Order: sequence, then structure tokens, then C-alpha cells
Amino acid sequence: MAQQFADIILPLAVKGRFTYRIPERLLSVVMPGVKAVVPFGSRNIYTGIVSAVHDHPPEEGKVRDIADIPGNEPVVTTLQLRFWQWIASYYMCTEGEVMKAALPGAIIPDGLQASGVNERYRPRQETFVGIAGEFTEHALNGILDSLRKAPKQAIVLETFLALTGYPDSNDPLPVKKSFLLREAGASSSHIDALVRKKVLSYISLDVSRLGTYNGPVSDLNPLSKAQETAYASVCSQLEERKISLLHGVTSSGKTELYIHLINEQLKKGKQVLYMLPEIALTTQIILRLRKYFGAVTGVYHSRFNDQEKVEIWKKVSKSEEDGGYRLILGVRSALFLPFTDLGLVIVDEEHDGSYKQHDPAPRYHARDSAIVLASLHKAFTVLGSATPSIESYSNAVAGKYGLTELNERHGAIKLPSIVIADTREAARKKVMTSHFTPQLLNAIDNALENREQVILFKNRRGFSSYVECSECGWIPSCTRCAVSLTYHKGINRLVCHYCGYETPVPSRCGSCRSPGMLTRGFGTEKIEDEIKIVFPSARVARLDQDTTRNKNSFSRIIEAFARGDTDILIGTQMISKGLDFENLTVVGILNADNLLNFPDFRAHERSYQLIEQVSGRAGRRQKQGIVVIQTSDPRSTIIRLVLNHDYIKMFRLQTEERKTFNYPPFCRMIRISVRHHERSKLDGYAAILGNELKQQFGKRILGPEYPLVGQVQLWYIKNILVKIERERSLAKTKEIIGAAIEKVMKEKGASSLRIAVDVDPY
Ligand code: ADP
Ligand code: ZN
Ligand code: ZN
Repeated sequence: MAQQFADIILPLAVKGRFTYRIPERLLSVVMPGVKAVVPFGSRNIYTGIVSAVHDHPPEEGKVRDIADIPGNEPVVTTLQLRFWQWIASYYMCTEGEVMKAALPGAIIPDGLQASGVNERYRPRQETFVGIAGEFTEHALNGILDSLRKAPKQAIVLETFLALTGYPDSNDPLPVKKSFLLREAGASSSHIDALVRKKVLSYISLDVSRLGTYNGPVSDLNPLSKAQETAYASVCSQLEERKISLLHGVTSSGKTELYIHLINEQLKKGKQVLYMLPEIALTTQIILRLRKYFGAVTGVYHSRFNDQEKVEIWKKVSKSEEDGGYRLILGVRSALFLPFTDLGLVIVDEEHDGSYKQHDPAPRYHARDSAIVLASLHKAFTVLGSATPSIESYSNAVAGKYGLTELNERHGAIKLPSIVIADTREAARKKVMTSHFTPQLLNAIDNALENREQVILFKNRRGFSSYVECSECGWIPSCTRCAVSLTYHKGINRLVCHYCGYETPVPSRCGSCRSPGMLTRGFGTEKIEDEIKIVFPSARVARLDQDTTRNKNSFSRIIEAFARGDTDILIGTQMISKGLDFENLTVVGILNADNLLNFPDFRAHERSYQLIEQVSGRAGRRQKQGIVVIQTSDPRSTIIRLVLNHDYIKMFRLQTEERKTFNYPPFCRMIRISVRHHERSKLDGYAAILGNELKQQFGKRILGPEYPLVGQVQLWYIKNILVKIERERSLAKTKEIIGAAIEKVMKEKGASSLRIAVDVDPY
């Protein structure tokens, strides 16, 4: 037989294929998906995953042998390997980087190792109590009699018999020791005594680290008429096109529809992946799912520890009879679980920016990757949102995806009424109370009076300062990019985040010529202090990055609000999504301008989505909610659109604008970030790379330019943006970029240069 070789994925960011010879003794166990321990470099040993077995020796160099195959069984499926390969190739990173993101550390150590053999996963063991031999009823009564002087031991034995049903059930299930102790009100020594007397025995058993659900399982809610129609439409679109976009207003019952879709798949014996953009949202939805689907429902996200992750991993690869999970609720990393027969992937809040991973590689978009994963499984994908992304809606309009609209809230609850509060007007009339307009204060006052709750939303993007005319509200923007210019305090200049255009801060307004140009920005903490002054008896809480550093602080704050222990909750983006509170009637958006003027081609889309989503939290049950939007520009297009909940028009306008200024979906974007510790060297290398690319792509290259934050942790950063037509071959483009980067990395001294590529960096 010809020599056999294996390609190994190693946990490295190093490009290239790593091919090793398979020694005779390992021939029978090497197959795609198994772990392999291999030597690397002069002294190192790594554990990786076999991606392919073949008989082509590597072209150059001496080929080395695989040292060991620990475990013998594949730890990933061939389908997972294909998925990794797609991510690596589409997002321009190595399969090793994908592997590091995909596998729990306890399965594959992510660094190099002296010995890669040890599996670091350890099952958790607990002590159980069993019966030590075979006893008849008569014999047991004899034993109980003999324990008259040791009444506690008698109680322990009686409790054990009651719990296990022995001797009627002649093979009693062991009882957890801690449970037996609690039930019998005894101490360890009492059980010890019975063990010494050879009546009971201790057994050590593996137990799950994951809680199991054994609450009641209910029937699904029947769908309303509108939901029924939408459901039928989604189903037929899935049959036809595999992918369907569900555009349903907030609280229309999208989740109810998902539950019905999941039910169908589970009945067919298929698995379902239900994706959410943030961990925080899983806590509410998991309760809803378990109510219908019980213990086959699992959750996966990065807050689990490594050992727990391995247990979830194992449960996903098991069948239902073996106690496996069939429905997984997870955030983007859940894509990497070892699904065996996925039938449906749901991407809820599909427009959400958190689906994109920016750092480190793989810089993947979980929605787009989910569609690929589903197609590998020949499964369906449902994308859902009240405010779909322009990309997905375009795809739906173009017929690539099915499109289903669900325009009414469940239970005939109206969408919240929207009040626009003009902050400039209020300031002129001197009726502002710190940051609050009279309209907002009035709404809060009424809510508190009726014992209803309030959410105040303030977006976090603190660094997105900009300059504004105090008289007319004019904000300088870039003429080439249609985005507002950002104020860089350090250099006291305005900069276009997109094309690099720079200009001094104008001394006079470009519109009304008034000299009062102001810089803008304020935070949640300040709002909290001020609201406490205005409403001293209200119970106020704050939810933002600072108050949610601890593992459980998010749930604590949310639960307190859900219980009604908080009257006013102030927060950032975190409170905008998916949450469902019964008694929340007023939502205040403190500074809508701050959203609209974010220097990003998606600023308007994102603001619309955000305002609509935050508004969607108000008045979800009995009564119509009120949303107060504070803005200095009440006539702005986006504000008018939100006022009428007019998504379709927003979509149309945004599509036109993106066409005019050539942004996705009308082009593709790839961002190349170059970093160096020395500014002058960075400038030099970035220029070389920029020129190299300009030779190939001409005007399609923007930059190199300093981004908004031009220096992070001693690294200076410059970005180059590649904007290419959709018709051009993406593979070819990536090839050219790859070659250009390789060329720059060969320059003298370039080893201290770091280059990262981000495909679809938005
Ligand atoms: P969305 O996901 O679109 O925001 P939800 O599915 O959360 O909407 O529905 C909003 C509220 O209405 C939830 O409390 C939900 O339980 C309730 N609801 C929606 N549809 C039904 C239905 N068919 N039967 C009973 N309750 C429903
Ligand atoms: Zn510009
Ligand atoms: Zn002005």
C-alpha cells in the first residue's frame, strides 16, 4: 500500500497546509475529525484535528510522522470540517483560527503543549447511596428492629426505602447522598454506620454539570388568524427557497411562530438551532422554549466554563433517546456545535450588529454563516426581525429569500404612540430640566402615578463626539461619504471615518454663519444622577457596561425590573433588544441626534432599528405605550419614518442612498487593518500596501487612514478599505489582497507589523 498522509489543522494563525505521514501503527485510527498530536518546529508539540487523509506527500521539506492519535474517535464531524473551511476561506483566516473559536478548550488545548495527549475534560462525580446486597422484606424489618437504639440510622434506612421503593422495585436507583441526608435530616455518620453494617453502600457516579429541566411541558398556543397566515407563508417559502425572512412588528408573535416551526422539526426527529444576538436575551427565551419542549432544550454561550461547554457539546451529538439536546438556543458561537441532523436554523433579530465578530479572527458574521451551515445540512433558515437589515430585506425583495410580513401586534395592542420632543425649541423657551424635555417628564410622571414602569435609553457610543451649531443644529458632514464628521479631541480636527478627509473645526456654522459651534456627548451615569433629583422617590437602576461587569449582574437588574422592584431603568443598547416587560409603558429616548450622527454608512438604518426596537418594549400587554423621542432635529427623515413605523420607506430611502454612494449591498467591502508600535513605520508599511493594492484596484481602494481610535494599547492602526463591485470575483479579489499582504510582510523589518483582514466589516 502507498504511504498515507494526513492534513492536520493546527491551532495557529500560520497559513499553509500541515501534512504529516501516518505511521503504520496509527493507520487504522486516522480519519477526518480525530485529534492528532504532532511535532512542530524544532521542539514543539501541538494537538490538532485531522482534516483529510490522502496519499500525496508534501512537495517540499522532510515529512514528519504523526506522534499520536489520542481518543481514537472523531471529535468533529466532516460536515463541521467543511463548515470551518468555508469560514476560513470566506473570512480570510486560517482553519486553525476557526478551530480555536469553535472547539471548547478542554477538547483541544489552544496553545502548544509538551504533551497533547491529556484530555482535560473531567466528568463531575458525586456520591450516591445504594443498597449493599439483596434483602427480603423480612430481612429489612429485622434490620430496622435491630436499629431501635440508633433511631437516626433507622430513619435513614426508612427514607432510603421510601425513596427507592425497595424491595418492591428490586433494582433500586441510587439516591444522591446529599439528597438522602436532607430528606432524612441525618448526618453523614449515620449513613457511614449503615455502610459499615453492609446494609447500604456508597457509589460514585458521573453527574451532569448542566441543570436538567423536569418541569411540566405545555401544549403550544394556538396561532391567531394573522399568525396562521404568516406561518403558512413561511412554510411554503421554506419548501421553495430554503430561506425565509419574517418581518413582523415588535410583539406580533414572531417567537410564537418560531415555536410552531421548531415543533414541526422536532416531530420529524430533526435538530433546531435558535440564534440570538446576545447572551442576555437567552434568559427570557429559554424559559419560554423549555415550557414547550422540556429537557431536549439546551443553551450555549461563552459564559459557560470549559467543562460545561464540553458537556453541552456531547449532548448535541447525542440522540434524544440518549438524553441529547434537540433544540439549542445560542449566540453566534453555537454555530460550531456538532449538530448531526439540523433541520432548521432560526436567526432572531437578524439585523443585530452583535452577530458580527470583529476581533479576533475568524471575523465572521453569524447570520450569514448560519445560512451556510443550514445549507450544508440541507436545512431551512428563518431570519426574523421587526426591522430587518437592508441586506436581508434586499435579498428578500430580489426573491433570493421568501418574505413574510406580520403587521399587527398580537391581541390587537397598538404599536406605541410616538411623541417627538424638540430639545432645541425647549432650550430656547428655557423649559428643559437638565437633559429632560417637559413632554418626557410629564410621561414619566404619569407612569409613576399609575405604578407603571419607564425605560430611558441613552446610546453608549460616548466617543462619537461631533460638532453642532448651537443655533440651527447644523452638523458638518463629509461631502464624499454622506456621513457626519467626527470630532477628534486630540488633534482638534474633524475627520471622515470613511475616506480619511480631515478639516479644522469651523469657527462659524456652515449653514447660518453663527459662531456658536459646540461639541456633543453625555453618559448614562449623569442621567441617573439627574433623574434621581427630579424624581426623588422613584426607584432607579442603570444597565450599561459598567453595571454589568459581574457574571449575573445583567439578570439581576433585569429580573428586579421584571418583578417591579425598579420604577425607572436607564440603559444603553443593552436594554433595546427583545425583552418583554408586562408593566412597561413609557420609553424615553434621550438623544436621538447622537444616533443619527454616528459616522457610519449604516447610521440611519441602525438608528431606525434601535429606536423602533426600544419603542417595541413599551406597552406590550394591556395598554398602548408611549415613546418620547428627544431630538434637536424633529424634521429629520429618520425621525419622521419612525413616527409612522414606516420600515418600507426607510428601506427604500436607504437603498437609494447606498446605491448613490456605493455601499453594500451594492458593493462588497473588505477592510485591512495594519498595526505597528511605531507611527512612522506604520505610515511607511501602510503606504506600501496601499500602493500595491491601488495598482490592482485603482479607485476601489480607500485609505490608508487612521480610524476613529487611531491607537489602541500602544498599537498605531491604519485602515485600508477595499470596495469592489458585486460582479467581480470575490475569490480573485481575496487572492490579490493575500498576495499584496504577503509581499509587504517580506519587507525589511516587517515582522513587527500586524495585518488583519475583515471581510464584510459592518
Ligand atoms: P415577537 O417575538 O414578535 O416580539 P412574541 O412572540 O414575543 O412577539 O409575542 C408577544 C406577546 O404576545 C408574548 O407575550 C406572547 O406570549 C403573546 N402571544 C403572541 N402570540 C400569541 C398566541 N398566538 N397565543 C397566545 N399568546 C401569544
Ligand atoms: Zn469621507
Ligand atoms: Zn447654524
